[in-house]
Amino acid sequence: EVRKLQQLKHARTETLDRVDIELFANIELPEDAIQALKLGAVGVGLFRSEFLFMDRNQALPDEDQQYQEYRRVVDLMHGLPVNIRTIDVGADKALGAGVDVSQTGTSPLGLRAIRWSLTEPEIFLTQLRAILRASAHGQARIMIPMLAHAKEIDETFRLIEKAKQQLHQRGQAFNPNIQVGAMIEIPAAALVLPLFINRFDFLSIGTNDLIQYTLAIDRADHAVAHLYDPLHPAILNLLANIIDQAKRANIPIAVCGEMAGDPALTKLLLALGLTDFSMHFSQLLLVKREILKANVGMLKARIPRVLKAYEPEAQAKALERLFS
Ligand code: PEP
Ligand code: MG
Repeated sequence: EVRKLQQLKHARTETLDRVDIELFANIELPEDAIQALKLGAVGVGLFRSEFLFMDRNQALPDEDQQYQEYRRVVDLMHGLPVNIRTIDVGADKALGAGVDVSQTGTSPLGLRAIRWSLTEPEIFLTQLRAILRASAHGQARIMIPMLAHAKEIDETFRLIEKAKQQLHQRGQAFNPNIQVGAMIEIPAAALVLPLFINRFDFLSIGTNDLIQYTLAIDRADHAVAHLYDPLHPAILNLLANIIDQAKRANIPIAVCGEMAGDPALTKLLLALGLTDFSMHFSQLLLVKREILKANVGMLKARIPRVLKAYEPEAQAKALERLFS
């Protein structure tokens, strides 16, 4: 059984009805890219860069140190895309004790991710320069977490331009056309998706946070964990809507939250029209096995009933039919 799964590494990732699917890896450490590539990932869909910043007793890594780490991933991936998500600290992810910067929020509704980066422009610019320098060696791309406001998008692009200018003045190489993507993980962003479609090169749905904020369930609070439900009809309808709008606009759309790596949900995501999945590398072959067994045309024909099933019993029936 394990050997059979291993053989899938070399199989083309397509459904029974020949729909090509792209599987990307989520990584936390640069060396995770080695496993990702071995398991057949076609890129890094999410490099959680904050792991370079957390659990440190010393100062934050400087530009050169960050550049080395990003460059390592880019080199390991041999020209495949690498989405480097800018630092996502705050809420459940704390900075190391030795870091002397303004407090990050401890609430999931507080100062975290891009909100924090925009209050610490020097730290943000340092990271942007490091990513830009890595882009001279391969397909490093910038991915921004937790955006919701047009003003945040403006400010983010202003700082990206500034980082480019700084490198230009120093005479350092970077890809001036580096791709910039946004995570869709706040319901407000999903509700104004055309704003994001117009301004970014690619989108990635962070279902972990999108579920947290849509259902008003703190991801880290065990007392409400039983209400954290990826199958809530509101979540399924929201996902269907985001994927549909992005596909119509021809902008690449992926899911990089835990849902994408759950083989029990693969057919459901295919039915919603998803073609780009990003997951922890340990899940790649399990999800691939589901994809090889799926018929997207048939799944899509059965999804409207799932989306209209608001009662658990009706939903269970509709899902059973979908998976049969
Ligand atoms: C998400 O929110 O789904 C996501 C991928 O990001 P993180 O889990 O790091 O917040
Ligand atoms: Mg998130």
